[in-house]
Amino acid sequence: MDKITIKNLEVFCNHGVYKEENILGQKFLVSAELSLSTRKAGLSDALEDSVSYGDVSRLITAEMKKQNDKLLERAAERIAGQILKEFPLIDSVRIEVKKPWAPVMMHLDYASVSIERGWHRVYVGVGSNMGERQAWIDMAAEALRSDGNNRNFRSAQVIETEPYGYLEQDKFLNTVFTFETLYEPEELLLRMQEIEKEAHRERKIHWGPRTLDLDLLLYDNRITESPVLTIPHPEMTKRLFVLIPLCELNPHGVHPLYRKRFAEYKEALEQQENK
Ligand code: AMP
Repeated sequence: MDKITIKNLEVFCNHGVYKEENILGQKFLVSAELSLSTRKAGLSDALEDSVSYGDVSRLITAEMKKQNDKLLERAAERIAGQILKEFPLIDSVRIEVKKPWAPVMMHLDYASVSIERGWHRVYVGVGSNMGERQAWIDMAAEALRSDGNNRNFRSAQVIETEPYGYLEQDKFLNTVFTFETLYEPEELLLRMQEIEKEAHRERKIHWGPRTLDLDLLLYDNRITESPVLTIPHPEMTKRLFVLIPLCELNPHGVHPLYRKRFAEYKEALEQQENK
């Protein structure tokens, strides 16, 4: 990916753990490496097709002076988030905040914190089979769409499906959402669980009736397994009610672990159903 770099932008401000630092202030040096495609601007020679490093430098200065943080980590986090939200052409950013006068009573060139943040493409499976099913799905869509840490939200068509697992229950409405997010996977899962709670979801029977079920299907091509989160979602290749809306949104998508197209899983299940 192409890069635009700002190196050692000097800002005088008041971050630090010690009271004296907050009162007297000191020099900070901020570097930013912006990842984006510069191809269009390279051909057009037009600034509106790229990102102005002057504008980014002004944003960094304003963000550094906006509040006093104890930690460089926090200052770096705020700068990265603001850059990604204000400059949509940027996919990811690396920020380093240096403190050359760090009050440690020893000589050093500087102490610094470097972080890398970016937008991540996610797919979320959605199901409801209790109460106002469409209203629960709309509520979840609105909550995720309007979240400032998400962008470019799209939903597949909602389909009605027969219950899965526990059969003595009403039909489901299912769909898949896709969007880009700044949340880390576990953070997004927590956000989804809060939305489920807002829908008064109670889990009494495994695979039983639910007002709203949100599953994190895919997070970029990330493969991870922890006690709380497995991605890709382990059941996704077995469920037509996931694969149909997923293939609508991403017809050529490939499973990151098994390297097989989702469309092939879908066709195999459809054939099995038609036997
Ligand atoms: P359920 O509501 O029946 O889909 O199950 C939710 C439980 O599965 C929660 O305890 C989650 O921590 C766990 N889980 C593991 N991986 C995922 C995932 N990819 N998406 C949603 N929940 C997950």
